[in-house]
Amino acid sequence: MKAAHYDVLVIGAGPSGSMVARNLSRAGYQVLLCEKRPVVGIPVRCGEATGPRKRLSDFMTVNEDFIESAFTGVIMHGAGGTTIRYDADKEIGVMLDRALFDQDLARQAVAEGAELQVNARVTSLSPAENGVRTVHIEQDGEAFEISAKMVVGCDGAESLSGRWAGLKTRQLPPLTCSAIELRVRAQDPNPNHLTFWQGHDTINKGYIWVFPKLKSGVVNLGSGELVPKMGAQNMYQLSMEYCHKLYPGAVIEEVHGGCVPVSGHMAEYTAERFALCGDAAHHTNPLTGGGIMAAILCGETARRRASATGCWGWARATRNGSTASSREWSTACRAAGCRCPRRSPASRSSA
Ligand SMILES: Cc1cc2nc3c(=O)[nH]c(=O)nc-3n(C[C@H](O)[C@H](O)[C@H](O)COP(=O)(O)OP(=O)(O)OC[C@H]3O[C@@H](n4cnc5c(N)ncnc54)[C@H](O)[C@@H]3O)c2cc1C
Repeated sequence: MKAAHYDVLVIGAGPSGSMVARNLSRAGYQVLLCEKRPVVGIPVRCGEATGPRKRLSDFMTVNEDFIESAFTGVIMHGAGGTTIRYDADKEIGVMLDRALFDQDLARQAVAEGAELQVNARVTSLSPAENGVRTVHIEQDGEAFEISAKMVVGCDGAESLSGRWAGLKTRQLPPLTCSAIELRVRAQDPNPNHLTFWQGHDTINKGYIWVFPKLKSGVVNLGSGELVPKMGAQNMYQLSMEYCHKLYPGAVIEEVHGGCVPVSGHMAEYTAERFALCGDAAHHTNPLTGGGIMAAILCGETARRRASATGCWGWARATRNGSTASSREWSTACRAAGCRCPRRSPASRSSA
């Protein structure tokens, strides 16, 4: 680490972490972005489908290198042989190369001045004291202590940071999807469509998906369900069965698993000098489990909250993503010792 103290320490360089780091660095804060993996974005545990270029470009620079293909329609196979096909006359979303996408976003954060450290696993957080939190980090067998005025937990679906900060982040099994995905070297007959199977013939509380990636010439095929009942086929068997049925003899290049928080709202996303973003805050679309766009939006919201006012009270003053009242905010700012204009000049001088 280049310093012992930062304005903001971001845990995890997935889309939410890199967006927070990029946006707050751009706003002038000194940001440390810690990623436990040796290489950002790898392994990819994602179907890699997200919204259209136009929507992505509202928040970030879209680089064609990480766009695999566009999709213009959806095919839904339901129960009893029912099929619904939707064709749009425009791009309704894109398939990403998630490894390149995550790496590009991390590079955008670094280009704005964030310091990225890989192999850097955050292991615990202290309570806020004297206006900072102390963060414990392990990197290449060494232990570090870094202090930061604000810590943002972007550590994904298996996040521990919220719990360290005293938030109730537990994901109950019936509210969490478990998913297995195969990367299959195959061509799908509907290369510009996302295809889903859902219903009692296949899978009830989840779906099976086929998402073609044209540049790479592969198909992401997977299945995810709210914790399957005892005796039900597990997600690996189901994904394999569909793979053999749809693409007999095709080579399966990778198999990944993960969980998707589809539990809806947590009571609190923030604590003193701490906020959660992305999957760590359970911010996925509960219908689809898609979380890339939500992660990016979270990164943008964090920037707006923190940088519009230069305010460290925002994390205390906002609840469930709602905007705090002016009074609530200024009380929180006083308590958080921030420098924003909501505080009186006298109290500001001591921040
Ligand atoms: C099988 C599967 C398929 C999916 N398909 C789609 C899809 O098609 N479309 C879609 O929109 N969403 C999909 N999702 C969900 C999507 O992947 C997530 O919503 C998205 O990655 C959330 O981004 P994030 O930045 O919040 O978390 P992540 O992308 O999970 O990033 C968290 C980062 O934090 C790091 N980290 C964790 N703990 C620590 C620590 N202690 N210290 C330092 N670093 C740490 C991790 O290594 C990781 O890099 C899928 C998920 C799964 C499991």
